Amino acid sequence: MKIYIDGKLIDKEKAVISVFDHGLLYGDGVFEGIRTYDGLGFRFKEHIDRLYRSADAIELKIPMTKEEMVDAMIMTLKANKLRDAYIRLVVTRGPGDLGLDPRKCSKPTIFIITYQIALYPKEFYQKGLEIITANTRRNYPLALDPRIKSLNYLNNILAKIDAIKAGTEEAIMLNYEGYVTECTGDNIFMVKDGELITSPVSIGALEGITRDAVIGLARKMDIPVFERLIKMEDIYAADEVFLTGTAAEIIPVVRIDKKRIGGGKPGGITLRLTGAFKELTKSDGVRYDV
Ligand code: PMP
Repeated sequence: MKIYIDGKLIDKEKAVISVFDHGLLYGDGVFEGIRTYDGLGFRFKEHIDRLYRSADAIELKIPMTKEEMVDAMIMTLKANKLRDAYIRLVVTRGPGDLGLDPRKCSKPTIFIITYQIALYPKEFYQKGLEIITANTRRNYPLALDPRIKSLNYLNNILAKIDAIKAGTEEAIMLNYEGYVTECTGDNIFMVKDGELITSPVSIGALEGITRDAVIGLARKMDIPVFERLIKMEDIYAADEVFLTGTAAEIIPVVRIDKKRIGGGKPGGITLRLTGAFKELTKSDGVRYDV
């Protein structure tokens, strides 16, 4: 397997970065997780735009144009002959000294890992997931805005540990005021009386690319969509709940904190959106040959 590091394709075993890299020392950097489906890069532009927005937000200047970044991803996919892939694209502040000062880091490190996608078990999609509410609250947006997809994922990891301790795969994270924001690695939607509702990202959530795609699909299908504050009582009383993310796509949720959601099985709107999303992945993207 070849890994892209700073312009070169390197064998996996030799693909290393400095222990002085501030991405490692301080989580100082940004990243993306991207999918390709049968030689079609799903929403490459949106992912690359979000990467550069995240970098801007932490005053990290990526020493490559967006076009060059897409070329680097495609070059790595081709080197690994992958038509169906998960891409991890990372830009760190680069190697510096042991202080925080980002000015001491002369050059950002850019690396790209392309991997065969590890799909979640089918039963997650057929039966639906059971999740919990994490004790860990989502980062306060004025301290570290969750809209920045930074390498500093400890907030999410702590909530993931809450989920693991409860024997579940995912956990809902509330914001500092107790409103539902998102899960540790996915956005969250609920359906009530035929309306699709998701939290506004401004309260502390990542603006998910899958979330945006699902909102677009729902609008096309004449399903009313709202970005609205969601309390746990609303979620418990929902007809349907599902999660969205690049790796997960759309996953139904059937139990939250041991309470049954709706009919306890994946709901009609969730299934319709799942079908529409599958179709979208076949047409919406950047074509490449391996
Ligand atoms: N929220 C968080 C915290 C995430 O890390 C992710 C990505 N795994 C998402 C939401 C979903 O975003 P996307 O649809 O862009 O993958």
